[in-house]
Amino acid sequence: MLALVGVLVLALAGAVLWVADDDVAWDRVAPEFWAAVTELHTVRDLAGDGLVEGRDYAFMRTDEGRLLHWRCGRPIPVILIGQAPQGVEDLLSEATALLSETSGLRLVPKHQPEGSRDVEGAITVLYGALGGDAAETFTEELGQGGPASGYNGLINFGEVTILTGPSQAPHTLPAENMEEARAVLMHELAHTLGLDHSATGAPGVMNPGLNPHDLALSPGDEFALRAVGCPR
Ligand SMILES: [Zn+2]
Repeated sequence: MLALVGVLVLALAGAVLWVADDDVAWDRVAPEFWAAVTELHTVRDLAGDGLVEGRDYAFMRTDEGRLLHWRCGRPIPVILIGQAPQGVEDLLSEATALLSETSGLRLVPKHQPEGSRDVEGAITVLYGALGGDAAETFTEELGQGGPASGYNGLINFGEVTILTGPSQAPHTLPAENMEEARAVLMHELAHTLGLDHSATGAPGVMNPGLNPHDLALSPGDEFALRAVGCPR
């Protein structure tokens, strides 16, 4: 059986320069995480919970070390574009609800079959082939996801593609495997929120190769989502 490896980060970070409209790199961090997150460059072991950056969780950062993050205070549409395979609308609702609850961000799922990519302030999700290229579905990757951000770490938009070729469909389509499909979607959506991969073999959904026996958010995943999220 095909190993669940090679879920890649779409390296859009830094691809879009953003007007210096503000500098709010830390304002969305919940107060209880402020100290820990701002010191993550040097803090190896977060006091109390034993979580370690690079092992239990990881962030995408700007060249200056700022966490990539969404602006607080406005909803983030998560737009399913194209035709949605059976069960995907419900899956997206579930995944966005869980990520919103955990992070404090307000992710709002929508389905726009005629929608297109690169919607400012939104995350677009497509089930199918990257760029419509069928050859790309014959890989070991299950999907791609990532944010586009400016120098200050503010994320402008996000993109997720979940591959549904013959080798991926058993893992990515909810009609075939609901639990794995949810984990794959959560993984890619979490990339668009600024999370990078935890260590290989780490618990949760943000390690590089999804483990079919561990498909729920781990304490490290939850911590990282709160850190890039918003105060309630
Ligand atoms: Zn990944």
